[in-house]
Amino acid sequence: MKNIILFGPPGAGKGTQSEKLIQKYGFVHISTGDLFRWHTKNQTALGRQVMEVMNSGALVPDEITIAMLREEVARHPKANGFLFDGFPRTVAQAEALDALMKELGTAIHHVIALEVNEHELRQRIAKRRTLESRADDEEEKLNKRITEYFSKTVHVLPFYEKQNRLVRINGVGKIDDIFASICAVLDKA
Ligand code: AMP
Repeated sequence: MKNIILFGPPGAGKGTQSEKLIQKYGFVHISTGDLFRWHTKNQTALGRQVMEVMNSGALVPDEITIAMLREEVARHPKANGFLFDGFPRTVAQAEALDALMKELGTAIHHVIALEVNEHELRQRIAKRRTLESRADDEEEKLNKRITEYFSKTVHVLPFYEKQNRLVRINGVGKIDDIFASICAVLDKA
């Protein structure tokens, strides 16, 4: 069983690479962004609780996010590995994830950060916006999400870097080349 985390700012290609990784390795994909969107769309109690903060582009409080993540992991007792996408975004979440993996007798095996500069990110997102409509992709909110990434989420990277668990991968280039770089990391013992 291998568990991995895929980091990257909004528009870095996490979604595209996740799909390819799931297909190749059979990971259970856990995207906290997708889960929150599902809850808000279906107007669950959790969805109503987080709707406002989510629509503003800010981060949902750790306690709520960690509880939802734990629940989602518990729904897949037979998983042969998880791919965490959009989680952890704070050091508290990273610590909670390590604790959860330990409880399950496993660990996070690879932590990958897809790196894309801000100019390229904004171009990609502008393109995506013409293809699909996502309320939180509106300009102002998008700025906030990118700012959240560079002001908060990047602080999680040193947490893993200090433990020699982080691999940075250039996320600019051909999709298949980026995918091959990620696979090379995962295929290492
Ligand atoms: P994403 O699609 O991953 O960018 O997530 C969309 C939104 O969901 C974020 O802007 C946050 O409001 C919320 N969210 C997703 N994952 C997390 C997380 N790990 N911690 C806090 N908020 C999150």
